[in-house]
Amino acid sequence: MIVIDGSHGEGGGQILRTALALSLVTGQPFRIENIRSGRRKPGLMRQHLTAVNAAKAVGDADVDGNTIGSQRFSFHPRILKSGKYHFAVGTAGSCTLVLQTILPALIMSDGPSELILEGGTHNPFAPPFDFLKRSFLALINRMGPTVSAGLEKPGFYPAGGGRFIVAIEPASLKKIRLNRRGEIIHGQAVAKVANLPLNIAQRELKVVRKEMEWDPSRLKAVAVDNANGPGNVLTIEVESDTITEVFTGFGERGVSAENVAKRAVKQAQEYLAADVPVGRFLADQLLVPMAIAGGGSYLTLSPSLHTRTNVDIIRSFLDVNIDIQQVGSEQWKIVI
Ligand code: AMP
Repeated sequence: MIVIDGSHGEGGGQILRTALALSLVTGQPFRIENIRSGRRKPGLMRQHLTAVNAAKAVGDADVDGNTIGSQRFSFHPRILKSGKYHFAVGTAGSCTLVLQTILPALIMSDGPSELILEGGTHNPFAPPFDFLKRSFLALINRMGPTVSAGLEKPGFYPAGGGRFIVAIEPASLKKIRLNRRGEIIHGQAVAKVANLPLNIAQRELKVVRKEMEWDPSRLKAVAVDNANGPGNVLTIEVESDTITEVFTGFGERGVSAENVAKRAVKQAQEYLAADVPVGRFLADQLLVPMAIAGGGSYLTLSPSLHTRTNVDIIRSFLDVNIDIQQVGSEQWKIVI
């Protein structure tokens, strides 16, 4: 049985999500220890437990140790089952990450699936829904499958209560190469507020307008009227010939709207200056689908610890070579 050390490298939830995803896809059982030992509250939190239980359902798996706070569990999948599923985190924990855990398996299963996911949809330290749809899933679709996602209700921290639906038409994943960005063809920014003054969104967009030198026609302030609690998120979207990247600033108590915007702008500007297609978050998330496809390559920013750790976990399940090379002052090439 494969044994995974959850304290390895970045030591976070991604280790267990990647292990679950690849166990489902390859049929190899595994045991994980020291789960999230690098985090302030180690062990399985609601979001991770929901991911484990979602993988259990999709893989008809035997699982031992799947309880809140558990720092170890074993997972033995039997068969992949496509179909209709409803997974609810039950807190504001990210449900986009729950989707990413089971998506590779459902893409490779023998029939279509329909999912309802509930929890947080716009969490700091997790892929926000807009990034998931416009950036990550757009690339998955380019690799072969048809995956559509629709947000019914946003879920912000701490109230949660978000909900989105996903429809999956399986297909085997094809290799893709993202080695140049090409021309930027469009850029836009959307600032959303829920149960907070619209003025916050307008102040954020003022910063985007000045720093990105974007025309006001590309900026949109939106008051969300169906969220459970307060929330604010600024999304900066950059679309080029080859890819759409999404950079996010999360409103936070004690952080001014201007600073929320500056954080997102900084990410977008770093990306634009480096002339790479793949941003830092997408870089760690593309590894699993590309490894399953049996190859691929992309040009990206300096690899994060998430990326390096994910490479090691993938190698525990798949016999793939993943090479990371610096090829320019701000450019790295990842070849699988
Ligand atoms: P972990 O910290 O191990 O739970 O993993 C967090 C995951 O969320 C990683 O795959 C990150 O790339 C992803 N992530 C965090 N923040 C963002 C963001 N702003 N946009 C897109 N993905 C993100």
